[in-house]
Amino acid sequence: MNVDDIKKVTVVGTGTMGNGIAQVFAQCGYDVNMVDIRQDFLDRALAVITKSLDRLLKKEKISEDDKSAALGRLNMSTDLSVAADSQLVVEAVTENLDIKLDVFKKLEEICPPETILASNTSSLPITQLAAATKRPAQFIGMHFMNPVPMMKLIELIRGIATSDETFGLIKELSVRLGKTPVEVNDFPGFIANRILMPMINEAIYAHMEGVGTVEAIDEVMKLGMAHPMGPLTLADFIGLDVCLAILEVMHEGLGDPKYRPCPLLKKMVQAGYLGRKSGRGFYDYST
Ligand code: NAD
Repeated sequence: MNVDDIKKVTVVGTGTMGNGIAQVFAQCGYDVNMVDIRQDFLDRALAVITKSLDRLLKKEKISEDDKSAALGRLNMSTDLSVAADSQLVVEAVTENLDIKLDVFKKLEEICPPETILASNTSSLPITQLAAATKRPAQFIGMHFMNPVPMMKLIELIRGIATSDETFGLIKELSVRLGKTPVEVNDFPGFIANRILMPMINEAIYAHMEGVGTVEAIDEVMKLGMAHPMGPLTLADFIGLDVCLAILEVMHEGLGDPKYRPCPLLKKMVQAGYLGRKSGRGFYDYST
């Protein structure tokens, strides 16, 4: 297969990342199936995409025609078998190994052997996910950044068996999406989260130990290090459950206590304080 053969893409999981990934493919002219487990999740994803396209329209980055063409390329379903006619599937379901393995086992049955399977996982081993299929050569990590329509980077993660052909094709496709792909080998946290998550975790420890308030910690990193947003604001934006899941994978996968998730992060996730998406995290988003 070559990059021109990719016409239809299925995005599985339409939460924070999945809706952004679907939007970017649709804006670039690809037909997109969006699959989630509940119709109301799909309705919410479509509302988010419509709002995002409206913002681009208002800023005159796209026309009214571009907006309706992109929306017209989206097909919503709660049935994973729609993936059968896609040349590429991008999985963006919850960061949980068992859920992802189950999705890939089903995709292996549903999709023809040449279909490329990609995972947007933040931290789980691409090699292990690929081993749930009979096509590890056509399996790759496509780690988009949040918010997907705005962020240029895609980490492209090679599993142990990812072929050069698959890597080259997805690299070219990433450029067509207007992104900058960076090659990464398959180790827990890849590059982005290997460096970002210990910083966020340390910010939470600093807050828990009373070194500074949430606002003070964010202010120091913004003004002192020229970060566009503080680490606790960023954690809320990513989702505290997602941050915890990534740290747990790094802690277990690398075996080093320096990746131990902060107890305050665990407590907040247990309380349902998941950041922006739940209305409360380190900051209050309820009003
Ligand atoms: P999310 O919780 O916002 O969305 C996950 C979606 O997957 C939900 O809509 C859920 O209903 C759906 N889902 C769960 N099981 C499913 C199944 N079996 N079939 C179809 N859909 C299913 O999570 P998210 O933040 O979008 O994260 C998705 C993936 O992207 C994770 O692997 C995460 O690590 C990764 N990621 C997240 C970020 C981030 O900033 N949030 C950044 C990069 C990568």
